[in-house]
Amino acid sequence: MGDPRRHIPGTDTLLSDPRIAAASAHIGHSTTKRVIHEVQHRARSGHVDPHNIVDTVLAELPDATCSLRPVLNATGVLLHTNLGRAPLSPAATDALHHAAGTTNVELNLDTGDRGGRGRATHDALHHAVPAAEAVHIVNNGAAALLLAATALAQDREIVLARGEMIEIGDGFRIPELLESSGAHLHEIGTTNRVTLDDYEHAIGPHTACILKVHPANFVITGYTASVPVDALHELGRALNVPMIVDIGSGLLQPHPLLPDEPDATTTLHAGADLVTASGDKLLGGPQCGLLLGSAPLVRSLRRHPIARALRVDKLTLASLEATLRGPSTPLEAALRCDTTELRHRATTLAADLKAAGIDATAIESTATLGGGAAPGHALPSAAITVPQNLAAPLRTGNPPVVGRTESGRHLLDLRALPPDQDPRLFQAILAAGGQLPS
Ligand SMILES: *Cc1c(COP(=O)(O)O)cnc(C)c1O
Repeated sequence: MGDPRRHIPGTDTLLSDPRIAAASAHIGHSTTKRVIHEVQHRARSGHVDPHNIVDTVLAELPDATCSLRPVLNATGVLLHTNLGRAPLSPAATDALHHAAGTTNVELNLDTGDRGGRGRATHDALHHAVPAAEAVHIVNNGAAALLLAATALAQDREIVLARGEMIEIGDGFRIPELLESSGAHLHEIGTTNRVTLDDYEHAIGPHTACILKVHPANFVITGYTASVPVDALHELGRALNVPMIVDIGSGLLQPHPLLPDEPDATTTLHAGADLVTASGDKLLGGPQCGLLLGSAPLVRSLRRHPIARALRVDKLTLASLEATLRGPSTPLEAALRCDTTELRHRATTLAADLKAAGIDATAIESTATLGGGAAPGHALPSAAITVPQNLAAPLRTGNPPVVGRTESGRHLLDLRALPPDQDPRLFQAILAAGGQLPS
Protein backbone atom coordinates (compact mmCIF):
# COMPACT_ATOMS: atom_id res chain seq x y z
CA MET A 1 0.00 0.00 0.00
CA GLY A 2 2.91 2.33 0.76
CA ASP A 3 4.58 2.32 -2.68
CA PRO A 4 4.31 5.95 -3.87
CA ARG A 5 5.05 4.88 -7.45
CA ARG A 6 1.48 3.62 -7.64
CA HIS A 7 0.45 7.30 -7.57
CA ILE A 8 2.26 8.16 -10.80
CA PRO A 9 -0.43 9.58 -13.12
CA GLY A 10 -0.79 8.07 -16.58
CA THR A 11 0.18 9.94 -19.75
CA ASP A 12 -3.41 10.77 -20.77
CA THR A 13 -4.20 12.08 -17.31
CA LEU A 14 -1.17 14.33 -17.43
CA LEU A 15 -1.94 15.51 -20.96
CA SER A 16 -5.43 16.54 -19.88
CA ASP A 17 -4.18 18.50 -16.86
CA PRO A 18 -5.29 22.08 -17.73
CA ARG A 19 -1.86 23.63 -17.17
CA ILE A 20 -0.05 20.96 -19.16
CA ALA A 21 -2.72 21.13 -21.90
CA ALA A 22 -2.17 24.90 -22.19
CA ALA A 23 1.59 24.44 -22.45
CA SER A 24 1.12 21.68 -25.02
CA ALA A 25 -1.00 23.97 -27.21
CA HIS A 26 1.97 26.35 -27.25
CA ILE A 27 4.94 24.03 -27.68
CA GLY A 28 3.40 20.97 -29.31
CA HIS A 29 2.02 17.56 -28.40
CA SER A 30 5.07 15.44 -29.17
CA THR A 31 7.49 17.59 -27.15
CA THR A 32 5.05 17.58 -24.22
CA LYS A 33 4.64 13.81 -24.42
CA ARG A 34 8.38 13.26 -24.52
CA VAL A 35 8.90 15.35 -21.37
CA ILE A 36 6.01 13.56 -19.63
CA HIS A 37 7.58 10.18 -20.39
CA GLU A 38 10.96 11.31 -19.07
CA VAL A 39 9.44 12.61 -15.84
CA GLN A 40 7.32 9.47 -15.36
CA HIS A 41 10.44 7.39 -15.86
CA ARG A 42 12.30 9.34 -13.20
CA ALA A 43 9.32 9.10 -10.85
CA ARG A 44 9.28 5.30 -11.30
CA SER A 45 12.93 5.12 -10.34
CA GLY A 46 12.24 7.25 -7.28
CA HIS A 47 13.94 10.46 -8.45
CA VAL A 48 10.77 12.56 -8.70
CA ASP A 49 8.05 12.69 -6.06
CA PRO A 50 4.87 11.39 -7.78
CA HIS A 51 2.88 14.15 -6.08
CA ASN A 52 5.02 16.79 -7.82
CA ILE A 53 4.84 15.27 -11.24
CA VAL A 54 2.72 18.00 -12.87
CA ASP A 55 4.95 20.76 -11.54
CA THR A 56 8.06 18.88 -12.64
CA VAL A 57 6.69 18.41 -16.16
CA LEU A 58 5.77 22.10 -16.35
CA ALA A 59 9.22 23.14 -15.13
CA GLU A 60 10.95 20.96 -17.71
CA LEU A 61 8.89 21.86 -20.74
CA PRO A 62 10.89 24.18 -23.00
CA ASP A 63 9.63 27.78 -23.29
CA ALA A 64 9.78 27.78 -27.06
CA THR A 65 9.62 25.39 -29.98
CA CYS A 66 12.78 26.84 -31.50
CA SER A 67 16.19 26.35 -29.96
CA LEU A 68 17.51 29.61 -31.45
CA ARG A 69 17.22 32.31 -28.80
CA PRO A 70 17.90 36.03 -28.87
CA VAL A 71 21.46 36.45 -27.57
CA LEU A 72 23.01 39.70 -26.32
CA ASN A 73 26.14 40.18 -28.42
CA ALA A 74 28.73 41.72 -26.08
CA THR A 75 31.69 40.26 -27.99
CA GLY A 76 32.64 43.53 -29.68
CA VAL A 77 32.45 41.69 -33.01
CA LEU A 78 29.74 43.46 -34.98
CA LEU A 79 29.21 40.68 -37.52
CA HIS A 80 29.70 37.52 -35.47
CA THR A 81 29.20 34.46 -37.68
CA ASN A 82 28.41 32.23 -34.68
CA LEU A 83 25.74 34.73 -33.62
CA GLY A 84 24.08 34.93 -37.03
CA ARG A 85 26.04 37.86 -38.52
CA ALA A 86 23.96 41.02 -39.14
CA PRO A 87 20.98 41.58 -36.81
CA LEU A 88 17.94 42.52 -38.91
CA SER A 89 16.36 45.95 -38.69
CA PRO A 90 12.86 46.25 -37.18
CA ALA A 91 11.57 46.87 -40.72
CA ALA A 92 13.15 43.63 -41.96
CA THR A 93 11.83 41.75 -38.93
CA ASP A 94 8.30 43.02 -39.64
CA ALA A 95 8.68 41.92 -43.25
CA LEU A 96 9.43 38.37 -42.05
CA HIS A 97 6.08 38.31 -40.22
CA HIS A 98 4.20 39.58 -43.27
CA ALA A 99 5.73 37.02 -45.56
CA ALA A 100 5.45 34.09 -43.15
CA GLY A 101 1.96 33.07 -44.24
CA THR A 102 0.63 32.85 -47.77
CA THR A 103 2.04 35.79 -49.68
CA ASN A 104 2.30 37.20 -53.22
CA VAL A 105 5.89 36.10 -53.79
CA GLU A 106 5.12 34.90 -57.34
CA LEU A 107 1.76 36.48 -58.02
CA ASN A 108 0.91 39.86 -59.51
CA LEU A 109 -2.04 40.99 -57.38
CA ASP A 110 -3.05 43.69 -59.91
CA THR A 111 -3.48 41.35 -62.85
CA GLY A 112 -3.87 37.99 -61.14
CA ASP A 113 -1.11 36.62 -63.36
CA ARG A 114 1.98 34.82 -62.27
CA GLY A 115 4.60 37.43 -61.34
CA GLY A 116 8.39 37.18 -61.43
CA ARG A 117 9.50 35.63 -58.14
CA GLY A 118 10.68 38.34 -55.75
CA ARG A 119 10.46 41.01 -58.47
CA ALA A 120 10.15 43.87 -55.96
CA THR A 121 13.24 42.75 -54.06
CA HIS A 122 15.29 42.56 -57.26
CA ASP A 123 13.99 46.03 -58.19
CA ALA A 124 15.04 47.37 -54.77
CA LEU A 125 18.53 45.93 -55.19
CA HIS A 126 18.78 47.33 -58.71
CA HIS A 127 17.60 50.70 -57.46
CA ALA A 128 20.32 50.64 -54.77
CA VAL A 129 23.00 49.87 -57.39
CA PRO A 130 22.08 51.61 -60.65
CA ALA A 131 25.62 50.84 -61.91
CA ALA A 132 24.50 47.22 -62.40
CA GLU A 133 22.59 46.43 -65.58
CA ALA A 134 20.92 43.48 -63.88
CA VAL A 135 20.85 41.72 -60.52
CA HIS A 136 20.13 38.27 -59.16
CA ILE A 137 19.75 36.97 -55.59
CA VAL A 138 20.76 33.52 -54.30
CA ASN A 139 21.20 31.83 -50.92
CA ASN A 140 24.56 33.20 -49.83
CA GLY A 141 27.86 34.57 -51.10
CA ALA A 142 29.21 31.08 -51.70
CA ALA A 143 26.14 30.22 -53.80
CA ALA A 144 26.67 33.38 -55.87
CA LEU A 145 30.24 32.27 -56.66
CA LEU A 146 29.16 28.70 -57.35
CA LEU A 147 26.46 29.86 -59.76
CA ALA A 148 28.84 32.19 -61.58
CA ALA A 149 31.54 29.51 -61.86
CA THR A 150 29.06 26.85 -63.01
CA ALA A 151 27.31 28.99 -65.57
CA LEU A 152 30.40 30.71 -66.98
CA ALA A 153 33.33 28.38 -66.48
CA GLN A 154 32.29 24.72 -66.34
CA ASP A 155 35.04 22.59 -68.00
CA ARG A 156 37.00 25.76 -68.63
CA GLU A 157 39.48 27.86 -66.67
CA ILE A 158 39.13 30.56 -64.05
CA VAL A 159 42.25 32.72 -63.68
CA LEU A 160 42.78 33.50 -59.99
CA ALA A 161 45.68 34.99 -58.01
CA ARG A 162 47.24 32.71 -55.35
CA GLY A 163 46.98 35.48 -52.74
CA GLU A 164 43.20 35.50 -53.24
CA MET A 165 42.63 31.77 -52.68
CA ILE A 166 40.99 32.23 -49.32
CA GLU A 167 39.30 30.06 -46.74
CA ILE A 168 35.99 31.66 -45.79
CA GLY A 169 35.47 29.82 -42.50
CA ASP A 170 34.50 26.49 -40.97
CA GLY A 171 37.00 24.78 -43.28
CA PHE A 172 35.34 25.95 -46.52
CA ARG A 173 37.73 27.24 -49.17
CA ILE A 174 36.87 29.34 -52.21
CA PRO A 175 39.21 27.41 -54.59
CA GLU A 176 37.55 24.10 -53.65
CA LEU A 177 34.10 25.64 -53.99
CA LEU A 178 34.96 26.86 -57.48
CA GLU A 179 36.40 23.49 -58.52
CA SER A 180 33.25 21.74 -57.33
CA SER A 181 31.46 23.53 -60.19
CA GLY A 182 33.58 21.67 -62.75
CA ALA A 183 35.70 24.73 -63.49
CA HIS A 184 39.50 24.46 -63.49
CA LEU A 185 41.57 26.98 -61.59
CA HIS A 186 44.54 28.59 -63.24
CA GLU A 187 46.52 29.91 -60.29
CA ILE A 188 48.84 32.83 -60.91
CA GLY A 189 51.34 34.90 -58.95
CA THR A 190 52.57 34.13 -55.44
CA THR A 191 51.02 34.48 -52.00
CA ASN A 192 52.09 38.11 -51.74
CA ARG A 193 52.42 39.33 -55.33
CA VAL A 194 50.58 39.16 -58.62
CA THR A 195 51.10 41.40 -61.65
CA LEU A 196 49.22 42.30 -64.80
CA ASP A 197 51.79 40.22 -66.72
CA ASP A 198 50.81 37.15 -64.71
CA TYR A 199 47.20 37.61 -65.82
CA GLU A 200 48.16 38.28 -69.41
CA HIS A 201 50.32 35.13 -69.65
CA ALA A 202 47.63 32.97 -68.07
CA ILE A 203 44.80 33.97 -70.38
CA GLY A 204 44.38 31.63 -73.34
CA PRO A 205 41.81 29.68 -75.34
CA HIS A 206 40.64 27.74 -72.24
CA THR A 207 40.02 30.84 -70.14
CA ALA A 208 36.39 31.40 -69.19
CA CYS A 209 36.87 34.35 -66.87
CA ILE A 210 39.15 36.24 -64.53
CA LEU A 211 38.12 36.12 -60.88
CA LYS A 212 39.26 38.63 -58.31
CA VAL A 213 38.44 37.81 -54.66
CA HIS A 214 38.63 40.43 -51.95
CA PRO A 215 40.80 39.03 -49.13
CA ALA A 216 38.04 39.81 -46.69
CA ASN A 217 39.28 38.14 -43.52
CA PHE A 218 43.02 38.82 -43.42
CA VAL A 219 45.58 41.46 -44.40
CA ILE A 220 48.95 40.94 -46.01
CA THR A 221 51.37 43.80 -45.51
CA GLY A 222 54.93 44.37 -46.62
CA TYR A 223 56.23 43.37 -50.03
CA THR A 224 52.92 42.95 -51.83
CA ALA A 225 51.38 43.68 -55.22
CA SER A 226 47.97 43.08 -56.71
CA VAL A 227 46.23 44.33 -59.83
CA PRO A 228 43.35 46.79 -59.45
CA VAL A 229 39.99 46.10 -61.05
CA ASP A 230 40.30 48.86 -63.68
CA ALA A 231 43.63 47.51 -64.98
CA LEU A 232 42.17 43.99 -65.16
CA HIS A 233 39.16 45.38 -66.97
CA GLU A 234 41.37 46.83 -69.71
CA LEU A 235 43.08 43.48 -70.14
CA GLY A 236 39.84 41.50 -70.02
CA ARG A 237 38.26 43.74 -72.62
CA ALA A 238 41.27 43.53 -74.93
CA LEU A 239 41.26 39.71 -74.69
CA ASN A 240 37.47 39.37 -74.56
CA VAL A 241 37.43 37.65 -71.14
CA PRO A 242 34.81 38.62 -68.52
CA MET A 243 35.90 39.58 -65.03
CA ILE A 244 34.07 38.53 -61.86
CA VAL A 245 34.87 40.33 -58.61
CA ASP A 246 33.89 38.78 -55.27
CA ILE A 247 33.77 41.78 -52.93
CA GLY A 248 32.45 39.66 -50.04
CA SER A 249 31.02 42.15 -47.60
CA GLY A 250 28.05 43.47 -49.59
CA LEU A 251 28.68 47.22 -49.38
CA LEU A 252 26.64 48.64 -52.24
CA GLN A 253 28.13 52.16 -52.20
CA PRO A 254 31.39 53.50 -50.72
CA HIS A 255 31.19 53.83 -46.93
CA PRO A 256 32.76 56.96 -45.39
CA LEU A 257 33.94 55.06 -42.30
CA LEU A 258 35.36 52.12 -44.26
CA PRO A 259 37.47 53.69 -47.00
CA ASP A 260 39.40 50.48 -47.75
CA GLU A 261 36.37 48.25 -48.12
CA PRO A 262 35.39 47.56 -51.75
CA ASP A 263 31.79 48.30 -52.74
CA ALA A 264 29.65 47.07 -55.61
CA THR A 265 29.10 50.44 -57.31
CA THR A 266 32.77 51.43 -57.44
CA THR A 267 33.77 47.93 -58.54
CA LEU A 268 31.23 47.97 -61.38
CA HIS A 269 32.32 51.46 -62.46
CA ALA A 270 35.91 50.20 -62.51
CA GLY A 271 34.81 47.63 -65.09
CA ALA A 272 33.81 44.41 -63.29
CA ASP A 273 31.39 42.41 -65.46
CA LEU A 274 29.91 40.67 -62.45
CA VAL A 275 30.14 41.41 -58.72
CA THR A 276 29.28 38.83 -56.05
CA ALA A 277 28.66 39.59 -52.37
CA SER A 278 26.88 38.46 -49.20
CA GLY A 279 23.68 40.06 -47.90
CA ASP A 280 24.27 39.52 -44.17
CA LYS A 281 27.57 41.33 -43.75
CA LEU A 282 27.92 45.11 -44.19
CA LEU A 283 24.60 45.39 -46.01
CA GLY A 284 23.02 44.38 -42.70
CA GLY A 285 20.37 42.11 -44.20
CA PRO A 286 19.45 38.42 -44.17
CA GLN A 287 21.75 35.64 -45.34
CA CYS A 288 21.76 35.77 -49.13
CA GLY A 289 24.12 36.17 -52.06
CA LEU A 290 24.02 39.08 -54.50
CA LEU A 291 25.04 38.97 -58.16
CA LEU A 292 25.22 42.32 -59.92
CA GLY A 293 26.50 43.12 -63.38
CA SER A 294 26.07 42.86 -67.12
CA ALA A 295 22.59 41.98 -68.34
CA PRO A 296 23.62 39.05 -70.61
CA LEU A 297 25.77 37.48 -67.86
CA VAL A 298 23.08 37.83 -65.20
CA ARG A 299 20.49 36.42 -67.63
CA SER A 300 22.62 33.34 -68.29
CA LEU A 301 23.05 32.78 -64.55
CA ARG A 302 19.37 33.20 -63.85
CA ARG A 303 18.37 30.60 -66.47
CA HIS A 304 21.03 28.04 -65.54
CA PRO A 305 19.46 24.85 -64.06
CA ILE A 306 21.52 25.17 -60.87
CA ALA A 307 19.96 28.59 -60.18
CA ARG A 308 16.80 26.74 -59.10
CA ALA A 309 18.75 24.90 -56.42
CA LEU A 310 20.18 28.15 -55.05
CA ARG A 311 17.01 30.23 -55.08
CA VAL A 312 16.05 32.19 -51.99
CA ASP A 313 12.86 31.73 -50.03
CA LYS A 314 10.11 34.28 -49.48
CA LEU A 315 11.40 35.19 -46.00
CA THR A 316 14.77 36.21 -47.41
CA LEU A 317 13.18 38.16 -50.25
CA ALA A 318 10.93 39.98 -47.79
CA SER A 319 13.60 40.90 -45.27
CA LEU A 320 16.14 41.85 -47.94
CA GLU A 321 13.68 44.19 -49.61
CA ALA A 322 12.89 45.83 -46.27
CA THR A 323 16.63 46.16 -45.54
CA LEU A 324 17.20 47.83 -48.91
CA ARG A 325 14.20 50.16 -48.82
CA GLY A 326 13.81 50.70 -45.09
CA PRO A 327 15.57 52.77 -42.44
CA SER A 328 19.21 52.32 -41.50
CA THR A 329 20.23 48.97 -40.02
CA PRO A 330 21.39 48.04 -36.50
CA LEU A 331 24.79 47.26 -38.03
CA GLU A 332 25.05 50.81 -39.37
CA ALA A 333 24.11 52.17 -35.93
CA ALA A 334 26.81 50.03 -34.29
CA LEU A 335 29.33 51.18 -36.88
CA ARG A 336 28.54 54.86 -36.42
CA CYS A 337 27.95 55.01 -32.68
CA ASP A 338 29.81 57.65 -30.80
CA THR A 339 32.65 56.58 -28.48
CA THR A 340 31.80 59.21 -25.85
CA GLU A 341 28.33 57.74 -25.69
CA LEU A 342 29.78 54.19 -25.45
CA ARG A 343 32.06 55.26 -22.59
CA HIS A 344 29.14 56.87 -20.81
CA ARG A 345 27.09 53.67 -21.10
CA ALA A 346 29.99 51.60 -19.75
CA THR A 347 30.59 53.92 -16.76
CA THR A 348 26.90 53.99 -15.87
CA LEU A 349 26.53 50.21 -16.11
CA ALA A 350 29.68 49.59 -14.08
CA ALA A 351 28.58 52.02 -11.35
CA ASP A 352 25.10 50.48 -11.14
CA LEU A 353 26.58 46.98 -11.00
CA LYS A 354 29.06 47.96 -8.29
CA ALA A 355 26.22 49.44 -6.27
CA ALA A 356 24.48 46.07 -6.60
CA GLY A 357 27.54 44.24 -5.31
CA ILE A 358 29.07 43.05 -8.60
CA ASP A 359 32.79 43.52 -9.21
CA ALA A 360 32.46 45.51 -12.45
CA THR A 361 34.80 48.03 -14.09
CA ALA A 362 34.39 50.27 -17.15
CA ILE A 363 37.29 50.13 -19.61
CA GLU A 364 38.27 51.24 -23.10
CA SER A 365 38.06 48.44 -25.60
CA THR A 366 38.50 47.67 -29.27
CA ALA A 367 35.71 46.25 -31.39
CA THR A 368 35.97 44.77 -34.88
CA LEU A 369 33.63 44.26 -37.79
CA GLY A 370 34.25 40.50 -38.08
CA GLY A 371 32.31 38.23 -40.41
CA GLY A 372 34.73 38.71 -43.29
CA ALA A 373 34.60 42.48 -43.55
CA ALA A 374 37.27 45.15 -43.16
CA PRO A 375 39.98 42.92 -41.64
CA GLY A 376 42.35 44.75 -39.35
CA HIS A 377 39.95 47.69 -39.03
CA ALA A 378 39.79 48.48 -35.31
CA LEU A 379 36.77 50.32 -33.90
CA PRO A 380 37.34 52.18 -30.63
CA SER A 381 34.80 50.99 -28.10
CA ALA A 382 33.97 50.74 -24.41
CA ALA A 383 33.28 47.72 -22.27
CA ILE A 384 32.67 46.60 -18.74
CA THR A 385 34.68 43.79 -17.23
CA VAL A 386 33.36 41.34 -14.65
CA PRO A 387 34.99 38.32 -12.97
CA GLN A 388 35.87 35.58 -15.42
CA ASN A 389 33.73 33.02 -13.62
CA LEU A 390 30.62 34.95 -14.73
CA ALA A 391 31.23 33.92 -18.35
CA ALA A 392 29.42 30.57 -18.14
CA PRO A 393 26.37 31.72 -16.12
CA LEU A 394 26.02 34.71 -18.47
CA ARG A 395 26.12 32.47 -21.54
CA THR A 396 23.58 30.02 -20.13
CA GLY A 397 21.36 32.72 -18.62
CA ASN A 398 18.15 34.24 -19.92
CA PRO A 399 18.82 36.15 -22.11
CA PRO A 400 22.17 34.53 -22.91
CA VAL A 401 25.04 37.06 -22.98
CA VAL A 402 28.22 36.35 -24.93
CA GLY A 403 31.35 38.38 -24.25
CA ARG A 404 35.05 37.62 -24.48
CA THR A 405 37.70 36.77 -21.92
CA GLU A 406 40.77 38.99 -21.79
CA SER A 407 43.59 39.24 -19.24
CA GLY A 408 41.76 37.16 -16.67
CA ARG A 409 38.52 39.19 -16.79
CA HIS A 410 35.31 38.66 -18.72
CA LEU A 411 34.83 41.62 -21.02
CA LEU A 412 31.42 42.80 -22.24
CA ASP A 413 31.86 45.21 -25.14
CA LEU A 414 28.96 47.59 -25.77
CA ARG A 415 29.46 48.53 -29.43
CA ALA A 416 27.47 45.68 -30.97
CA LEU A 417 24.75 46.01 -28.35
CA PRO A 418 21.97 48.55 -29.01
CA PRO A 419 21.75 51.06 -26.09
CA ASP A 420 18.15 50.04 -25.33
CA GLN A 421 19.52 46.60 -24.35
CA ASP A 422 21.61 47.98 -21.45
CA PRO A 423 18.88 47.30 -18.85
CA ARG A 424 18.66 43.68 -20.02
CA LEU A 425 22.44 43.34 -19.87
CA PHE A 426 22.38 44.78 -16.34
CA GLN A 427 19.70 42.30 -15.22
CA ALA A 428 21.49 39.39 -16.87
CA ILE A 429 24.74 40.23 -15.05
CA LEU A 430 22.92 40.53 -11.72
CA ALA A 431 21.26 37.16 -12.30
CA ALA A 432 24.58 35.57 -13.30
CA GLY A 433 26.25 37.07 -10.21
CA GLY A 434 23.49 35.66 -8.00
CA GLN A 435 24.11 32.20 -9.40
CA LEU A 436 27.69 32.11 -8.21
CA PRO A 437 28.49 30.26 -4.98
CA SER A 438 29.56 32.97 -2.53
C1 LIG B 1 31.98 36.01 -46.72
C2 LIG B 1 32.64 35.83 -48.02
C3 LIG B 1 32.25 34.80 -48.88
C4 LIG B 1 31.20 33.80 -48.50
O1 LIG B 1 29.95 34.38 -48.39
P1 LIG B 1 28.79 33.64 -47.56
O2 LIG B 1 27.65 34.58 -47.66
O3 LIG B 1 29.31 33.42 -46.19
O4 LIG B 1 28.53 32.35 -48.27
C5 LIG B 1 32.87 34.70 -50.10
N1 LIG B 1 33.84 35.57 -50.45
C6 LIG B 1 34.24 36.56 -49.65
C7 LIG B 1 35.30 37.49 -50.14
C8 LIG B 1 33.66 36.73 -48.41
O5 LIG B 1 34.06 37.73 -47.61
